[in-house]
Amino acid sequence: MRLDELKAVAAEAGLPAFAAKQMAEWIYGKHVRSIDEMTNLSKSGREALKERYEIGCKEPCDVQQSTDGTAKYLFPTESGQKVECVYIPDGDRATLCVSSQAGCRMGCRFCMTGRQGFQGNLSATDILNQVYSVPGSEQLTNIVFMGQGEPMDNLDAVLRATELLTDANGWAWSPKRITVSTVGIRKGVERFLQESDCHLAISLHNPFHEERLAMMPAEKAYGIEELLTLLKKQDWSHQRRLSFEYIVFGRLNDTERHARELVRLLSPIECRVNLIRFHQIPDTLYNGASEERMVWLRDYLTRHGVTTTIRASRGQDIYAACGLLHAKERMKK
Ligand code: SF4
Repeated sequence: MRLDELKAVAAEAGLPAFAAKQMAEWIYGKHVRSIDEMTNLSKSGREALKERYEIGCKEPCDVQQSTDGTAKYLFPTESGQKVECVYIPDGDRATLCVSSQAGCRMGCRFCMTGRQGFQGNLSATDILNQVYSVPGSEQLTNIVFMGQGEPMDNLDAVLRATELLTDANGWAWSPKRITVSTVGIRKGVERFLQESDCHLAISLHNPFHEERLAMMPAEKAYGIEELLTLLKKQDWSHQRRLSFEYIVFGRLNDTERHARELVRLLSPIECRVNLIRFHQIPDTLYNGASEERMVWLRDYLTRHGVTTTIRASRGQDIYAACGLLHAKERMKK
């Protein structure tokens, strides 16, 4: 809840208006797990609050720990689904990759979550609980909406979650610490650019329409050319960063033809490309590109003016590709 909503809750519980600010500090500053811990509120006020409200935090129900420190957690949602998030420590940084939906409607062929289909939207509470309840929450420096689901397909909840993460009376994070990714739902991107200052990442994976369509059915409704026309109109020289995620598959999208087209498409835009190693999933014809091709593609793009990095691969030993822990849980049933 925002401060104005907490003010209404305080009034309802017979608490003074300033109790709203105290509640916000307990929740977003001190991460209390029960109303009883809000010890500067009157006892009668706390009792009144408990009759109608709870903090709403839920512990993870499963975890896989990687040897490199990455940990994947499975969280229950308000509607009884299970979703994953991945905690990635890296020196003095720690990034949390959160889910925005249970399953996903987008059906990307190389993605385990895409194969599971759509089970439901997460509420803003479900999204924020991943941040609130993940072990090591206090060390988090960055959040990326790159877990299960398509954020622009559940934009109301995603925007509410990012609003509370960046609100001065919420988590008070800089929007520069938050990145929201999308396959490119144009209407969602338009609204996101108007209503949020967080960074934007586009899951690109192939610069050619027909080839991208074969990998990502969403290309049919949300073509990349049309999206790029929209993105080119934006001014990216200020605070907000635009990046393109590119999983590199052997011979499928790592050739010179692909590299040339990427340069043509992206070089007019202030952006960066993140090359990602493919985490193998069961029963797939997709194969990750060799290390040599990854380096070649990075160097080609960089030489032609497109800032490009190879994303470090984390948690290989715990199935860090999104959807695998959830799929394992479903197979148990
Ligand atoms: S890659 Fe992302 S958008 Fe595509 S199916 Fe998987 S979760 Fe959905």
